[in-house]
Amino acid sequence: MTAAEELDVVVVGAGFAGLYALYKFRGLGLSVRVFEAAPEVGGTWYFNRYPGARCDVESVDYSYSFSDELQQEWTWTEKYATQAEILAYLNWVADKLDLRRDISFQSRVTSAVLDEDTLRWSVVTEDATVTTARFVVMATGALSAAITPAFDGLDSFGGAIYHTAHWPHGGVDFTGKRVAVIGTGSSGIQSIPILAEQAEHLYVFQRTANYSIPAGNTPLTAEQVAEVKATYAERRRVSFRSGGGSPYLGTTKRTMEVSPQERREAFEKRWRLGGVLFSKTFPDQLTDQAANDEARKFWEEKVRAVIDDAGVAELLIPDDHPIGTKRICTDSNYFQTFNRPNVTLISVRRTPIVSVDVTGINTTETHLDLDAIVFATGFDALTGSLGKIDIVGRGGERLSDDWADGPRSYLGLGDDGFPNLFVVTGPGAPAVLANMVLHAESHVDWIAEAIGYLDAHGYVGIEATPEAVENWLAELNQRAATTLFPKANSWYLGANVPGKPRVFLLFIGGFGAYNDICAEVAAAGYRGFELIKAR
Ligand code: FAD
Ligand code: NAP
Repeated sequence: MTAAEELDVVVVGAGFAGLYALYKFRGLGLSVRVFEAAPEVGGTWYFNRYPGARCDVESVDYSYSFSDELQQEWTWTEKYATQAEILAYLNWVADKLDLRRDISFQSRVTSAVLDEDTLRWSVVTEDATVTTARFVVMATGALSAAITPAFDGLDSFGGAIYHTAHWPHGGVDFTGKRVAVIGTGSSGIQSIPILAEQAEHLYVFQRTANYSIPAGNTPLTAEQVAEVKATYAERRRVSFRSGGGSPYLGTTKRTMEVSPQERREAFEKRWRLGGVLFSKTFPDQLTDQAANDEARKFWEEKVRAVIDDAGVAELLIPDDHPIGTKRICTDSNYFQTFNRPNVTLISVRRTPIVSVDVTGINTTETHLDLDAIVFATGFDALTGSLGKIDIVGRGGERLSDDWADGPRSYLGLGDDGFPNLFVVTGPGAPAVLANMVLHAESHVDWIAEAIGYLDAHGYVGIEATPEAVENWLAELNQRAATTLFPKANSWYLGANVPGKPRVFLLFIGGFGAYNDICAEVAAAGYRGFELIKAR
């Protein structure tokens, strides 16, 4: 171990959240260092370079709002930007705000240990560098710990193996190759149509059939960009008040309050606009089964109409969860791709994967010769990256033990026993249910204000009380129970990771409502947190 650098704040992660945290804390005159495992900035957008990777929140909204200069200078070219464009944006921001000088790249944080006497955290990186800080901000990403299922014999495969979340930088040419894609979530659904155009034959291994809506991506015209830039302030104001962090407040009429014709027209309009907001055509779609059934029937009719083979359609239409209770996907010709002669759909529910061998995949029914396997199998969401860091709080208690039955937090920001440790867009917050860029901003702003308050009032620490944590967890559960979300085996519940406790991980009351709660807590002198004086 080398001598420790002593700082005000250590930030872990240099994605959207960590970059803004660095800028914000530096602006307050705090000493800050960001540790980033990757060799570059970008987080999600550095790693997920698979063909077709794009945002599904409109680019003009999925971008920083904290600086009007940034908003006015950057020009998005498409409604939903590509991974490359978003990564270019984040690099541009890092350069423009001179962020890199305080980021240690290729520095994976392995542990963070609290000194209870000083309330300082010792943060250790893989190369054994120790840094101490008054505050630690985990901006480690809700979707940054990718999962590769441990199929028997995978190591023996003689072809190439890829994961959508760790895609090679130079791209991959699948021309003339026999390729398997495992997984039909957002990443699979975005990449499958493009892989199908290249591959000699594409085998799509589907476990759970998924709902997807046409993305409706288009280039942005100069007029559209000018209009957004002229109205950005209002657009952002509405976004911070909205349910999902985009400037759409939705309709107030419930599904069954309108006539069948009006209902159909409303769904049709949303369908034509494209994108994830189809889930919010009516406000009760995710709380009332009958309302959800209406949305689902409309969706099914649209999708069946573009699939040629009735048997294939039967496999592609979900029958085990309400529409929108797993993250709804957006696509460009996903369902049509299964009409191609070089694409085969395999249901791993009907014929599970038994093993992988040197030449390909064995299912219970057949052996497939393959040149490449693409895992689009998702992430250990929300808790995965935090779980890889040995976080030790009061009395030597490990966060991993404290969270053994599911993550504990107050507001998703802090946990009792772990003073001065903040998590950005993690479990207990709306997180992935909202536009994550604005959400990261609102979290970082709240943390910055809290640190300013502590410093101004002579406190050295802030720690959630056990009661506040228990009440918050109860509130998360109660809110989730009023919705249809628990009906799906989704990663929102940790259901995609064998052995992970089944707990609804998110605040489902909406981004605007959540921001109000956080603001009220701060205004009430950080109600539910203990503010700690120096010993
Ligand atoms: P990340 O971007 O995940 O960054 C976390 C960083 O922390 C990573 O760079 C990682 O290397 C680093 N890190 C983690 N652990 C350590 C450690 N121990 N030591 C050092 N560094 C560490 N959200 C939306 O709102 N809209 C979208 O359209 C959208 N599209 C998405 C598309 C894809 C393909 C994926 C995977 C996610 C998408 N998301 C979207 C969610 C997305 O993750 C967030 O929007 C956002 O990019 C997260 O930023 P972040 O900074 O919080 O985390
Ligand atoms: P995901 O939604 O978790 O999808 C993973 C897929 O792999 C699922 O179909 C899953 O099936 C399947 N799978 C997992 N383990 C398997 C196994 N052992 N055998 C067979 N199939 C298996 O992951 P993702 O597609 O990477 O997306 C994760 C999240 O990232 C999204 O929900 C979204 O929030 C974000 N994202 C957004 C975009 C975008 O459009 N902007 C794009 C990509 C990702 P089950 O459903 O049965 O678990």
